[in-house]
Amino acid sequence: MNVSVGLMEGQSAVEVELTGGRFVDAWGETYTPGRYRFTSEVTLSPSDPGSCAFALEDVTIGIGFHWERKERQVFRGAFRLVKREAGLTVINDVSLEEYVTSVISSEMSASCPLELLKAHAVISRSWLWFPKANPSRGTGRRQSQAPDSHEILRWYGREAHPDFDVCADDHCQRYQGSTKAFAPAAAEAVRATAGEFLRYNGNICDARFSKSCGGITERYATAWEDEDIPYLESVYDGPPQSRSYSPEAWIRSSPPAYCNTDDSELLSRVLPGFDQETRDFYRWRVAYTAEELAELIRARLAVDLGPIREVQALARGPSGRIYRLKITGERDYVIISKELEIRRALSRTHLYSSAFVVDKEAGRLVLRGAGWGHGVGLCQIGAAVMANEGKTYMEILRHYYRGTAVSV
Ligand SMILES: [Zn+2]
Ligand SMILES: [Zn+2]
Repeated sequence: MNVSVGLMEGQSAVEVELTGGRFVDAWGETYTPGRYRFTSEVTLSPSDPGSCAFALEDVTIGIGFHWERKERQVFRGAFRLVKREAGLTVINDVSLEEYVTSVISSEMSASCPLELLKAHAVISRSWLWFPKANPSRGTGRRQSQAPDSHEILRWYGREAHPDFDVCADDHCQRYQGSTKAFAPAAAEAVRATAGEFLRYNGNICDARFSKSCGGITERYATAWEDEDIPYLESVYDGPPQSRSYSPEAWIRSSPPAYCNTDDSELLSRVLPGFDQETRDFYRWRVAYTAEELAELIRARLAVDLGPIREVQALARGPSGRIYRLKITGERDYVIISKELEIRRALSRTHLYSSAFVVDKEAGRLVLRGAGWGHGVGLCQIGAAVMANEGKTYMEILRHYYRGTAVSV
């Protein structure tokens, strides 16, 4: 089982450093360790997958998110360049188990609880394999012209990558090669769950996950197409309880939930270094002037509304996440649909989530929000707290994905 991962696109030339042992191209020519520069298509396969690696400088991670930065990264497996109109695409062909080891090391710190790493290994493997097991089920990037010409309806799915299975970024799953891949705990979690998938009625699940649900997980249709997926329904992220809140009251308060934690020792064990910059994930606040917001909408959506007068939630999912938002300016209005497009429109990077309420305070529009990410499926911070409390990976997965089972 091999996975092709897109590392970079649109390059005019690519510099790569080969290490550990020889690589061989499609014509049998060998490449000894050292630096090479390519401006056309090539496939370099490692002669010994265990010892050979390649390194790329300046790989951008977190593209468009608030923690975007460049890093040197090291990869196992084959190095492949594909030429497209925009330039060269860098692809890494790597085994599924190696990919999963890297992903859980990149997504989560290797010092986090083992049961969390095991849960993550199962969902990363399942998420990756789901489209291969369900080729007919398309979840590509969609943009529909809604009946109202003022409405922008858009979501982002898996089929945005014709040349490879997954990209290395948060759009798919964060993959940073082998730099951190061989932390013993991550490797142990992958070995302990080798070949295991999350299944519903025997079928591999589309195992979605995000950083923090904000206390209640979201349903699939808020983020992607209008479809009810039984194992991606909304659940309260805590032990069973009977209290209920209106979405607004929920967002304005800070109710107990697994992911409502300020255990900084646990968070620092769970989140890789850069994510620790984000500590206000459970409840957060952002403020704009009417002009700042108008400028943002103009830059992000290419529509000129004039100074913004009102931001209004037209529809919310069960976690409080907005999936239809109306923004009215002095000249015009726009309706934005689906959660990622809303987050994209309302921030220079990405708003933490679309679960927010809007208040007018001293001439500014203040967004008070809950959670980090789309909130569908497993909540990574909540799962970390569950693991820390002694729950097993099976219990964690059953909590977030109702009615599922784990098996090879
Ligand atoms: Zn992607
Ligand atoms: Zn949560």
